[in-house]
Amino acid sequence: MKAAIYKGINRIEIEEIDTPEMTTGTLVLKVDAVGVCGTDLKTYKRGHPFFQPPCILGHEVVGTVVRVNDASDGDLLGRTFAVPPYLGCGNCEFCKRGFSELCKNKVWFNGAFAEYILVPVELIRKTMAELDHGVNKVLATLTEPLACAIHGVKRLSIQDGRKVLVVGAGPMGLMISMFLRDKGCEVTLSEVNKTRVVKAQALGFLTIDANTVSLSEFSARNGKFDHSVIATESADIVQEVFNCVRPGGKVELFGGMPRSVKVHIDPYYVHYEEIDLIGSFGFSVQDFNDAFGELKIRHETYSKLITSQFTLDQIESAFEAAMRPENLKVIVSMH
Ligand SMILES: [Zn+2]
Ligand SMILES: [Zn+2]
Repeated sequence: MKAAIYKGINRIEIEEIDTPEMTTGTLVLKVDAVGVCGTDLKTYKRGHPFFQPPCILGHEVVGTVVRVNDASDGDLLGRTFAVPPYLGCGNCEFCKRGFSELCKNKVWFNGAFAEYILVPVELIRKTMAELDHGVNKVLATLTEPLACAIHGVKRLSIQDGRKVLVVGAGPMGLMISMFLRDKGCEVTLSEVNKTRVVKAQALGFLTIDANTVSLSEFSARNGKFDHSVIATESADIVQEVFNCVRPGGKVELFGGMPRSVKVHIDPYYVHYEEIDLIGSFGFSVQDFNDAFGELKIRHETYSKLITSQFTLDQIESAFEAAMRPENLKVIVSMH
């Protein structure tokens, strides 16, 4: 079968490799479509501690079950699912307390930029995000990133305040914003890249062009925000965001920053103003199911995020395209 092998920084090559061999508790999925994720791009551009070359990237997958190892899984054959790249083990303290995104014994599948992948059956059984009329294969690749966005929004407690600043109008910032808006929040998106400011405006969002006005200036003029989600890698912006969130609000670090980066904040805001600094990472089973349900109801909204599609052979072009600001979600579609 064909697979896109990540060989190191700026190197990804299509190779012919063996189709995966099944073991107990696994099945073979014929890949239908895979989203290119920010994590894939980071790995391609500068390497990643979790993904050592040679390996296969890609985890936002939709595929059809073509072979099962255990006869008891025969009911899954021929059915198409959005499959989460990982789930918590279900047994550890984190999983039992409902924080499965923090589980240290997660069940995984390996990268999905390939014709076939081996998947632990429980990833499908626990979510059963089966495609039907409401959502097509390409759109369903958004289930995983949307699950991460929903997880981030749940950590905000928007029942206490609905005026939210989202920093960064990339695909994740936009997905978070769309979900917040659907939940009745007033969302303002701040972005440095002009092309993305225009994109966010075209999607109907209030925007701050961060080249022309600082967040502090903006909030001095327009009032403070209840909460803010930082969906960029920029550590420098964090203090600036504290300046424009009201006392008792929340500032969430949604975007992952490199380990070497340090964030400087004035503890005054945390202590005297009780602004919480929180993080968000990954998703739980519930978030994944919520995301799939959301895509079914609001397919028109979320399909606007998909700006181009490529075949597996065009994987390098897909990665290059995903790095250009005029593109939002780029999907590798197998057929
Ligand atoms: Zn992803
Ligand atoms: Zn666990």
